[in-house]
Amino acid sequence: MNHRVGFVSLGCPKALVDSERIITQLRAQGYELVSTYDNAGIVVINTCGFIDSAVKESMDAIREAMAENGRVIVTGCLGAKADLIREACPDVLHISGPHAYEEVVRAVHRHLPPPIDPFTQLVPPQGIKLTPRHYAYLKISEGCNHKCTFCIIPSMRGKLQSYPMQNVLQDALRLKEAGVRELLVIAQDTSAYGLDTRYKQVTWQNKLRETRFYDLCEALSELGIWVRLHYVYPYPHVDDVIPLMRDGNLLPYLDIPLQHASPRLLKAMRRPANAENTLERIEKWRSICPDITIRSTFIVGFPGETEEEFESLLDFLEDAQLDRVGCFQYSPVTGARANELADPIPDAIKAERYDRFMRLQADISRDKLRNKIGSTQKVLIDAIDDDRVIARSTADAPEIDGLVYLPRDKKLIIGEFANAFITDSDDYDLYGEIR
Ligand code: SF4
Repeated sequence: MNHRVGFVSLGCPKALVDSERIITQLRAQGYELVSTYDNAGIVVINTCGFIDSAVKESMDAIREAMAENGRVIVTGCLGAKADLIREACPDVLHISGPHAYEEVVRAVHRHLPPPIDPFTQLVPPQGIKLTPRHYAYLKISEGCNHKCTFCIIPSMRGKLQSYPMQNVLQDALRLKEAGVRELLVIAQDTSAYGLDTRYKQVTWQNKLRETRFYDLCEALSELGIWVRLHYVYPYPHVDDVIPLMRDGNLLPYLDIPLQHASPRLLKAMRRPANAENTLERIEKWRSICPDITIRSTFIVGFPGETEEEFESLLDFLEDAQLDRVGCFQYSPVTGARANELADPIPDAIKAERYDRFMRLQADISRDKLRNKIGSTQKVLIDAIDDDRVIARSTADAPEIDGLVYLPRDKKLIIGEFANAFITDSDDYDLYGEIR
């Protein structure tokens, strides 16, 4: 029997972690993973359903797999809308929603029974990863208790469910032992970790700890590898982890989506609505940990956003001098309450605001990076090509931030750290050399 499984993973890093879990399980049972449809015994598609373009991408992938293979299992966020999938592709073998790892594996067993004598030794101890060997996403919870009006994740993924802290820390330790040098901590709401467990006490490394954001960060910081925090909701208790960053155990990097600066719009988004407080907090974080890199994301063109409110966002950017910034033009997500708000912003105005926003941030970023010329930065080597080495500093998360480019050097090895002397910069990247 053909025990090959074609696997397609779409969507965000959170979905990627789901894929890693399913793949790890399948490989552990002796299946072989392949990246093509035609020689696979079955195809699993982990879909994304966050915005309409992601739904389209997922539906296209399902149709393509049905046409080329015909034996398809669908899971992930779009799986929550089984009717939509059945309508387009009635012969899909099985559909499940997000984080249904066991159900997916059971469905594979049903339609493609596992080999009788699985070669479990094929599975490396850290599982099968879809990221390069030296960094890995560490997902700590599912779901979200917030009700941001532009987002449908809580209706798709449900309320916050934190993974048991011992399991999370065990996973982190296994990844480190398998050679991972950088952990990217992710969740829909990383800083809410543990709330649903009522901060259950656990013992880890002979110390009694609570299942909560601070204790998790502290325990992870003791691993001695880079630990980067993503999707941190701006709760007041986030301030508590900044000293861990100053003391060098946790990466001085905070990805904290702020979304806007206008109090009225933040209220309409159902986000914490006080930009002045945010500025004060940023100042405080920098006074505690001067090297901190603050990354944030914003939405422009939210329904009803006036020119004045947009300009208040630009003023905030000027004042906050954030290091890394992402920007999205508001796009209505089917099922989101924000779609019912009055005064949608025409696409041309959204695009024009996006350009102004990005131009301003490019100026800020260019100035900030120029200040790094002459400094020495610890970098992690991601790739080596024909004429250069591509690395990242503590200020650069993979895929979303800048890079540090170095000339080729025999001493540099992918997945290892090096110290780079910075000689040049541009809007988003640094250039350096090993001295
Ligand atoms: S905090 Fe994030 S996941 Fe939760 S509702 Fe808001 S945008 Fe969605």
